[in-house]
Amino acid sequence: MLALVFVDKVERAKRIDEMAEVIRGCLKCPLHASRHIAVPGDGNVNAKVMIIGEAPGREEDETGHPFVGAAGRFLDSVLEGSGINRDDLFITNVVKCRPPQNRTPRKLEVDTCVSNYLFEQIELINPKLIMLLGAVAAKKLLGVATINSARGRVIEKDGRKYLVGYHPAVRFYREDLAEKVREDFALLRQKLEDL
Ligand code: SF4
Repeated sequence: MLALVFVDKVERAKRIDEMAEVIRGCLKCPLHASRHIAVPGDGNVNAKVMIIGEAPGREEDETGHPFVGAAGRFLDSVLEGSGINRDDLFITNVVKCRPPQNRTPRKLEVDTCVSNYLFEQIELINPKLIMLLGAVAAKKLLGVATINSARGRVIEKDGRKYLVGYHPAVRFYREDLAEKVREDFALLRQKLEDL
């Protein structure tokens, strides 16, 4: 049994790596034209919790890793404050390539990237809980109209459990929402106890 679990873990990690290579060369939507490096997502392939944000920003586009810019540094401080280890998570975005000037990704871009990559990443990681950060992720995965209508509780859909929270980047244009981000991750920490 232990050997089977190990093989499964190795196979899943291999498939995640293979998909990352495909994403780095992907030309399936218009966002490929302006990106420097696609950002497939990274973290623990055995994560109980998967974090899904909106799109890579400038520093992510330069490094190929998710949440390493200003919003990522705020996320790290919130995780630390909540007692959540980033190494225990798998972190990615709805779209894997940076939109020009950090504009909101368009429906075609979101639909293309999610159907080609994100749904399979979720199946491979098979997290017990998915945290959606921001309106783009919440709308695409759950069809919710606003963050406020969905945050603060576990939502079940198609056999998976979700939390919805503010994207950490909100603090850079609404400082008062920084506390809401902390509340969202405090709730995640609380829910982690039950997983
Ligand atoms: S955003 Fe997704 S679908 Fe579009 S080019 Fe990048 S990896 Fe491909």
